[in-house]
Amino acid sequence: MSKKAVFGIDIGGTSLKCGLFSATGNLIRKDEIPTRKEENGKYIFDDIRAYIESVLIQEDMSKDDVIGVGLGVPGSVTEDGTVNKCVNLGWGVFNVIEAAAKNLGIDESKIAVGNDANMAALGEYWQGSGVGYRSTLFVTVGTGVGGGLIIDGVPVNGANGAAAEIGHLPIIDGLDWQCTCGKTGCLEQVASATGIARLAGMNNAKEVFDAAKDGDAKALEVVEKVSMYLAKGLACVAGVTDPDVFIIGGGVSAAGEYFIERIRKYYKMLVFHPSTDTDIVLAKLGNDAGMYGAARLVLVKGI
Ligand SMILES: [Zn+2]
Repeated sequence: MSKKAVFGIDIGGTSLKCGLFSATGNLIRKDEIPTRKEENGKYIFDDIRAYIESVLIQEDMSKDDVIGVGLGVPGSVTEDGTVNKCVNLGWGVFNVIEAAAKNLGIDESKIAVGNDANMAALGEYWQGSGVGYRSTLFVTVGTGVGGGLIIDGVPVNGANGAAAEIGHLPIIDGLDWQCTCGKTGCLEQVASATGIARLAGMNNAKEVFDAAKDGDAKALEVVEKVSMYLAKGLACVAGVTDPDVFIIGGGVSAAGEYFIERIRKYYKMLVFHPSTDTDIVLAKLGNDAGMYGAARLVLVKGI
């Protein structure tokens, strides 16, 4: 029996989420190892190599059984695999495919790399809430707001690697909070965990949602406002890409249907009428989405 398998590794600022998948997409095993960020993250590839070598031994596989290695990285990536400062990892500007091939001892043709939000989007498309849809727009609402657009199974990067970065849609008027990108008026200033807590004057987004569910007027006002702005962002996206479904993930999506039904309500009010009935659903894979997507990217590329 063929043991051919693919690694999907989501490189985050805290940990590396690693999955080993069969060629047909079944998860064989998953592991999590801490991210060593010392010395500008130079040990990360060493740790990935050690991990892969130990898994091959444990799974009784050889290097020839590895179809490829997919990597998700927290930052923008060009088509050729060059990252432009992954601040969370301490990385500068270099080609991840070349660096990974050299460090892992695996041919460059077997390595794929993508932005982490795009990888999470691809994971959800492949094995999560996007199954059965042709085009999906995944939105992660966490500390910030990120996104990924998948059309016919392929992540859309855009000319500058910034496609579907809906967190920086400049759609908030009358707010002078400065975004991490340096501008003001970005969606994520309001519709992120950070923005929600700040708007409500509370410690975190969960506290705001809990208070809103208990009938707290101020918290409820914030939840409505945030839902409206997020819906406005989705309506803007619908006007350009008109996806089959919006998938909402990230930490804040733990607020569940309570949050989603409000986004739906405002979306229907704001969007151009042909897109009124576009589904808006919760993500399914949670923190595993990125490693699923990274593995899928290898298979999409036909490595
Ligand atoms: Zn911004």
